[in-house]
Amino acid sequence: MKENLPAIQRPAVLRLAVPVPLYQLFDYAPPPEFPADCACIGARFEIKFGRQTLIGICIETDPDEPHPEPKPAQRLLDVQPLLDAPALRLGQWLADYYHHPIGEVLPLLLPPMLRRAVTLDEAVPSRTVRAYRRTRLDAAQQEALAAELKRSPKKRAALEHLDQGPQTRLELLEQGFSSPTLNALLKLSAIEAFETELADPPAGARTPAPSAAVTAAPLILNAQQEQAVSAITARLGTFQPFLLDGVTGSGKTEVYLRVIEALLGRAGQALVLIPEIALTPQTQARFQARFTATACLHSQVADRERLRIWQGCRDGSISVLIGTRSAALLPFAQLGLIIVDEEHDASYTQLDGLRYSARDLAVKRAADSGVPLVLGSATPALESIRNADAGRYQRLELNERAGGARFPEMQLLDIRGQRLHDGLSPPLLREIRAHLDSGAQVLIFINRRGYAPSLICSRCGTVLECPACERPLTYHRRRGEQRGSLQCHHCGRQQPEPERCPACTHPNLTPVGIGTQRSELALRERFPDVTVHRIDRDTARSKQRLEAQFAAINRGQPAILVGTQILAKGHHFPHVTLVALLNADAGLTAPDFRAGERTAQLITQVAGRAGRAERPGQVTIQTLQPEQPLLRALIQAGYRGFARSELERREAAGLPPYAAMLLLRAEAAQAADAEGLLRWLLRQVRNRLHGTELLGPVPAPQPKLANRYRFQLLGLHPNRGPLHALARELLATLSSDAARPHLRRVRWSIDIDPYDSL
Ligand code: ADP
Ligand code: ZN
Repeated sequence: MKENLPAIQRPAVLRLAVPVPLYQLFDYAPPPEFPADCACIGARFEIKFGRQTLIGICIETDPDEPHPEPKPAQRLLDVQPLLDAPALRLGQWLADYYHHPIGEVLPLLLPPMLRRAVTLDEAVPSRTVRAYRRTRLDAAQQEALAAELKRSPKKRAALEHLDQGPQTRLELLEQGFSSPTLNALLKLSAIEAFETELADPPAGARTPAPSAAVTAAPLILNAQQEQAVSAITARLGTFQPFLLDGVTGSGKTEVYLRVIEALLGRAGQALVLIPEIALTPQTQARFQARFTATACLHSQVADRERLRIWQGCRDGSISVLIGTRSAALLPFAQLGLIIVDEEHDASYTQLDGLRYSARDLAVKRAADSGVPLVLGSATPALESIRNADAGRYQRLELNERAGGARFPEMQLLDIRGQRLHDGLSPPLLREIRAHLDSGAQVLIFINRRGYAPSLICSRCGTVLECPACERPLTYHRRRGEQRGSLQCHHCGRQQPEPERCPACTHPNLTPVGIGTQRSELALRERFPDVTVHRIDRDTARSKQRLEAQFAAINRGQPAILVGTQILAKGHHFPHVTLVALLNADAGLTAPDFRAGERTAQLITQVAGRAGRAERPGQVTIQTLQPEQPLLRALIQAGYRGFARSELERREAAGLPPYAAMLLLRAEAAQAADAEGLLRWLLRQVRNRLHGTELLGPVPAPQPKLANRYRFQLLGLHPNRGPLHALARELLATLSSDAARPHLRRVRWSIDIDPYDSL
C-alpha cells in the first residue's frame, strides 16, 4: 500500500476497498465534484456498485489514465480522510493475517454511523441553542432596571449570574432561574438572547474534571502487586508484553489501576479490554471512581455513543477506554498502554465475518505503537504461557489473594454408584446444609441452562432432537409452569413441549439430566429457609436485573446461587464459602482440542468465587471420572500444574501453541456439496502444501447446524509462514474460475488460529 502522496494532483484512478466478499480493489474515477487538493487516501466515496449504492474507501490512487476509463464515484464523503495511515496499515494487516477481504475489514475500523453514506458533519450535527448575555444600558434604562431589581431578588440573582459571562438557556434553567424571570429581563433590555452552536461533547468529557484526577483512595499494594506495577511502569513508552499471572482475587485490577494512573501522569491513553460478560456497571464504576475521562464500549452501546467514543479516542479526549472485543479496533491519538483482562476469555474471539482475536490484535497494536501490554488472568491461555516460557512475554506473578483472603480447598467427590437427588449427591447435600447453617452462601455451578438437557420417551427411548441440527433439544420449564418448551441451543429453534412421543405416541416424556431451572426448583424444595438465586443467560437478559440480583446476594443473607458460566466471570461474592460443580468435568473429554484447557479454566474460575473475603472457602467437584489425569493434575497442582501437563500433551501431538493452525469450513444444504468442494480443493492444492499438513475433509464436530451440513479442512504447520502460504493457495484456488461450479451451493470461510473447531 502506498502512503499519502506528498504533492497532491488530481488522480485519474481511485482504488477503492468495497464491502463485498471479494479479494480485490475496485477502480473508480474521481467524482465530478472533487476538490483539487483532496487527500483521498483513507477517504470514503459513495459509489454505484452494480445496482447497489455502497461506500468505498480509497486506499491507493493512480495518476495515469487507464483504458477504458473507469466509471466515476458518485460523491466524496470525507474532505478529511477518516482513516489515517496507521488505521489503514492496521486494516491491511488484519486483511492479510486473517485472509479476509480488505473491503470487509475497513468498515470495522469505523463506527457504524460512518459505514453509511453520511459525512462526519452530518453524523455529528452541531446543535444551535439559545443563550443569553448582558447588554449595555443607557442611563435611563439603568435607573429603571435598578428600581425593578430592588423588588425582585430573583431577577437580581439571574443578572449577577450572567455578569460572569453568557449562559445557555438550558444552563440557566438548570440553575433554577425560571422562564418568566428571563423574559422579564429581556423586556427590560438587561439581557439579550443569541443563538450559539453547541457541539455534542466528546464521550469522555462528560465528567468535567482534570483528566488524570484520582477520585477514590487507592489501596496499599502488597509486595507482588508493587513489583508488578513498577515492572510495567518502568516500560511505559516501549513495547513490552507482560503476562500478569495472578490467582483469582489477587488484586490484578488494582495493578491495572495503578499503572493507568502512572500513564496518565505523563499523558497517554489507556485501552482496557474486558470480556463481554464482565463489563458490568460494577467494573465501570471501579474505573470511573478513579479516573475521569473514561468511556465504555460494549455491545449495548448505541450507535451515536459509538461515534462519540470513536471520535474521543481519535482526538485524545478520552484517556481511558474500557471496552469489549471490538474496542481493539478503535483509533487512538496517543495510545500509551493496553490491558487485556481475563485474557483467556472466549469472548475475545470473533466467530464470524473477520474472525479475529482481540487479544492477538492487542499484541500487534502494542508492538506498532511501542507501548506496554498487560495480559492478565488467573488461568492464562496456553498460548500466553508458552509465550512467557519462551521469553516473549515477561511473567509477573501474584500468588496471594489480596487483603488476606485465603485460597479455597478443592476436593473431588466421586459420585460413581451414588444415588443423586436432582443431580446432587447425599454428601454434597450435607455440605450445603452445613455451610448455610453457618450463615454463609453456597454457589452451585451447572454448565447447562434450561430444565434438562434432553426429553426422552420412557417407552421407546426416543430422544427429542432438533431436526435442523440433529442434536437433543433442551427442555425448558419455568417455575410454576405446567408445560414447558423445547429449545435448540445450537440454532435457537423453539417449540412447545409435545404431548406425545413423535415416534410411538406414548404420552410419557421424561426430562433426563439436569439444568439450572431444575436445580433451582429442587434446591428451593430442599432448602426452603433460604433464597435461591438462579443466574444464567435466561435470567441475565437485562444487565440491570442481573446487577440487582448481585446486589441482593452481596447483602449477605444465607442463600444459594445456582447458575452457569456467568457466575465464573470476575464477580466478587464475599459471602460464598462453598462452591460445588455438578458436571463441569464432563467437558474435559469433549472432541475439541482446547476442551481440556477450557474446562480447567472454567473449573478454576468458578472455584475462585469461593472464600474471597475473611471466611475460608471450599470447592467440591462432583465427578464420574475421579481418575481422569487432567482433572487430577488440576486438583493436585492447580491450573499452573494442569497447564504444564497439557502443554506437554499438545507438544507431543503437534497442536497449538506448538503449531500454527487454520481451518477451512464449508457448509451446504446437501452434505455432498460441502464435502465435494473441500475434496476438490484438496486435490487442487495437493502439490502446493508448502510443507504443511492438510487434514480432511471431515465433518465438523457439530456436523449439522440449522439444516446445513458442515465439513472442514484442518491445516497445521510448526511455523506461521508456510501456513499463511497455504492459506493464500487455498484462497487463490477458491477465487479461480475453476472453483465456480463447486461453490454454487456452498458457503465457506477461513479461520486462522481457530479458537475452537466446532
Ligand atoms: P482479581 O482481579 O485478581 O480477581 P481484584 O482486583 O478484583 O482481584 O481484587 C480482589 C479484591 O481484593 C477486591 O475487593 C479488591 O478491592 C481487594 N484488593 C486488591 N488489592 C488489595 C490490597 N492491596 N489490599 C487490600 N485489598 C485489596
Ligand atoms: Zn437446531
